[in-house]
Amino acid sequence: MSLLREAERSLGNLQKFRSLNAFVNSVRDERLLLDRVKESDARRELGKPKSPIDGRLIAIKDNICTLHYPTTCASGILKGFKSPFDATVVKKLQDSGATIVGKTNLDEFGMGSHSTHSRFGAVKSLQTGPNGKALSPGGSSGGSAVAVSSGQCYAALGTDTGGSVRLPASYCGIVGFKPSYGLVSRWGVVAYANSLDTVGVLARDCKTVKEVLNAIDGYDPQDPTSIPASTRSRIANLRARRRRVGPFRIGVPAEYNVEELSPIIRQTWLKTLQHLQSLGHEIYPVSLPATQHALSAYYILAPAEASSNLARYDGVRYGARDNASDDTSGVLYAETRDKGFGEEVKRRILLGAYSLSAEVADIDGLACRAMNNYFIQAQKIRRLVQQDFDSVFYLPNPLSSPSSSDLASAEADPAHGSPKVDVLLCPTAPTLPPTIESLSGKSPLDAYVNDVFTVPASLAGLPAISLPVKSTGEGSDMCGVNSVGIQIIGQYGDDELVFDVAELIE
Ligand code: GLN
Repeated sequence: MSLLREAERSLGNLQKFRSLNAFVNSVRDERLLLDRVKESDARRELGKPKSPIDGRLIAIKDNICTLHYPTTCASGILKGFKSPFDATVVKKLQDSGATIVGKTNLDEFGMGSHSTHSRFGAVKSLQTGPNGKALSPGGSSGGSAVAVSSGQCYAALGTDTGGSVRLPASYCGIVGFKPSYGLVSRWGVVAYANSLDTVGVLARDCKTVKEVLNAIDGYDPQDPTSIPASTRSRIANLRARRRRVGPFRIGVPAEYNVEELSPIIRQTWLKTLQHLQSLGHEIYPVSLPATQHALSAYYILAPAEASSNLARYDGVRYGARDNASDDTSGVLYAETRDKGFGEEVKRRILLGAYSLSAEVADIDGLACRAMNNYFIQAQKIRRLVQQDFDSVFYLPNPLSSPSSSDLASAEADPAHGSPKVDVLLCPTAPTLPPTIESLSGKSPLDAYVNDVFTVPASLAGLPAISLPVKSTGEGSDMCGVNSVGIQIIGQYGDDELVFDVAELIE
């Protein structure tokens, strides 16, 4: 199909699926867009495309800054805001010849798991439940996932802080990839929790995700947490030295087989493992004991960082000022923030401010009695989660071991304890997508629990992908969705291996 034909089809779907509410803003001048795509078609005919994504339409989650569209973060507080620049990832996509088709709906500032906490209303999944009721598309990148699943774009960017690319991909039956922390620039991405935020890609298959990832990957001096060239080459050396003949070793974390796991998901997980085994790959049980505390640690750390990041929206520095008051005695700030932020964001700010407050932090003059401090305890759990992963992966963590000598010792003594594994394989979420209607009676905690399988990789900064696997098991034809999200997690920097294994399952 020509690129022009493909773009016209996407624009048609954009009209057709308006009611799914996937976009907050989308292309106004379709003719201009199509003219640009025609130029890409011409380049392709000459055998000189700028890149594999030249002429493709890409949707951008609306917490990523764009010059030509407003950036709202689905919040009232950013009403009228226009970014004076494009985020690095947006610039890179455009330099590769891609066209931005619009900005996608999300949970306000990325906080949520169902894309219902949006100033612009909830996003609806393309799939419906058995009774025809709208299903949750997952969140917070639900708009990006629906834009892809309903063919409104070629691929989409999302952000993943604790699962926001993987969960929507899983609920919408598409592929969602979260890269190693620092691989893709965060410059121009509105911060939720800086130490966890990543930009991820959603598309229908791994090949497309990789094309987009290749376009946005790379060191960015404007992002202080971007992985520099020296570390990138150390990672490449370490990976190249890995003995790579024979089958993959796939770890199955025992802690992910929780009681609450939906039987359809457990059976699909098992089927996927059997498939890999039938291809000659080896399956090993592994244990990640700190996993059980990961969710609690995440919901201390992420809101703590969020409460600090969101302090800038006060009606003076950033934020749509509330006109009622003009003084700076605190009334202006309070009214602006009260009107601008939604309920979930306010809850996170309070939670974060509380866990960082002096009383809870137990800061007494200069002495900080760390034992009672939620934030410090959560940081310790974060380190334990990371150590758990390091203890099961064959590839040493390139950030904690500058030399590759660890690789040699792992190589020499693979029989010591249980063998180390290349990747881990587990479900993306414990349950199938709920109906949007059923969410209204639930507590915020119910939504937080959906992140239980995605948060550990986020805390450790690891690459992880969610893949749709055709569901099996009793009732799988009745639940309205025909696939289950299966997650593959790799060691830090081992992003390519995650794709290698994913492509065996696809
Ligand atoms: N659902 C999680 C949260 O609300 C993850 C969000 C994300 O990854 N942006 O924090």
